[in-house]
Amino acid sequence: MTAFASGLDGPRLLADSIAGKFPDSHGRFGPFGGRYVPETLIPALERLEHGVREHLHARDFQAAFTRELKTWVGRPTALTFAGRLSERWGAKVYLKREDLAHTGAHKINNAIGQALLAKRIGAKRIVAETGAGQHGVASAAACARLGLPCTVYMGAVDMERQAPNVGRMRLLGAEVVPVTTGDRTLRAAIDESLRAWVSDPLDTYYLIGSAVGPHPYPYLVRELQAVIGREARAQMIEATGALPDAVMACVGGGSNSIGAFHAFVPDAAVEIIGIEAGGRGAGLGDNSATLSFGRPGVLHGSFSMLLQDEDGQIQETHSVSAGLDYPGVGPEHSLLHAAGRVEYQAVTDAEALDALKACSESEGILPAIESSHALFGASRWAAANKGRTILVCLSGRGDKDMPTLQSTLLAAEGK
Ligand SMILES: *Cc1c(COP(=O)(O)O)cnc(C)c1O
Repeated sequence: MTAFASGLDGPRLLADSIAGKFPDSHGRFGPFGGRYVPETLIPALERLEHGVREHLHARDFQAAFTRELKTWVGRPTALTFAGRLSERWGAKVYLKREDLAHTGAHKINNAIGQALLAKRIGAKRIVAETGAGQHGVASAAACARLGLPCTVYMGAVDMERQAPNVGRMRLLGAEVVPVTTGDRTLRAAIDESLRAWVSDPLDTYYLIGSAVGPHPYPYLVRELQAVIGREARAQMIEATGALPDAVMACVGGGSNSIGAFHAFVPDAAVEIIGIEAGGRGAGLGDNSATLSFGRPGVLHGSFSMLLQDEDGQIQETHSVSAGLDYPGVGPEHSLLHAAGRVEYQAVTDAEALDALKACSESEGILPAIESSHALFGASRWAAANKGRTILVCLSGRGDKDMPTLQSTLLAAEGK
């Protein structure tokens, strides 16, 4: 733990978090979060904050959101007992099947929720950023569903790497704009989306893809994704008569994980573990394990843990999974880390691919490489907790990863 985090009063932060005191009136989760943006963005964020307060928990908004989740996204997603993985690993493994959600991952929960909100607050068009293209596809689908024009900013490097998703977004009616500035990947695409929003803050809505960014986004995205943990908690009780001993999810920006964890944070007996991308190892630039190796700083409008060098320059990151390859993490995770409520561990590229293979062969489920990080974390936990019960958030399906799997796992086996 960094000197910064060890100087904080963990038990007090946790108590305040459980009491619902975060985000506070400054948009902070303890010391993390807030709003570090150019002055020109403040009115747009205040308008959004006002819209969130007025609509998000209003009965008619919740009814519309729940209806879309049920009839279009396909919720509730299944809870699957992974019998053969359980035998193999020695603990009882349950999978929360976000891979079965429309467009193949949890991202759609957030996309349709924010698109509904955008309409309520009178936005005429949506801008979104995307890295691997998954959030771009979810946003394009949600916008098509609601009849909103959608522009997706995507790094030129990513457009090349993720060509099928570019085509998918275009078929769904979105305009995909290549970003040729900065690192020409996700980080630059977020900068570009924020710029597009600043230039037309009244008619444009910025649909962010994870529990990151300036207040109120981390809170908004968490509230929209919390359906994962709420459903899973009830499904676990129905299936086993009890809460799981541990809950695990992979952490990129942190949306599927905060969504899975939120309902369990007050359950002191439930261990909560976030799995970050350990990449090739602990070296500088070899991973995207922000909470394992980072220090506090500001990125994309929020104060949170961050992979940066001694001079505060953001580090290059690496992960075999594009969805986890981000140098920051949502501020609420930094809080749960500092408060000692959630443990964050790293899983390497190779370990994740091993778990992907195990899950595919044992359960007939091809998980996303992102989700496979959580699966490996579960196998490690199982080795030390024989006979106990673990819930894993299977954030998405692996079909999108076939080009990577072809050149890694299958190539290694000569297939
Ligand atoms: C995008 C993505 C992630 C990582 O994003 P979070 O905001 O951390 O959830 C994880 N799994 C899948 C399948 C994804 O598409």
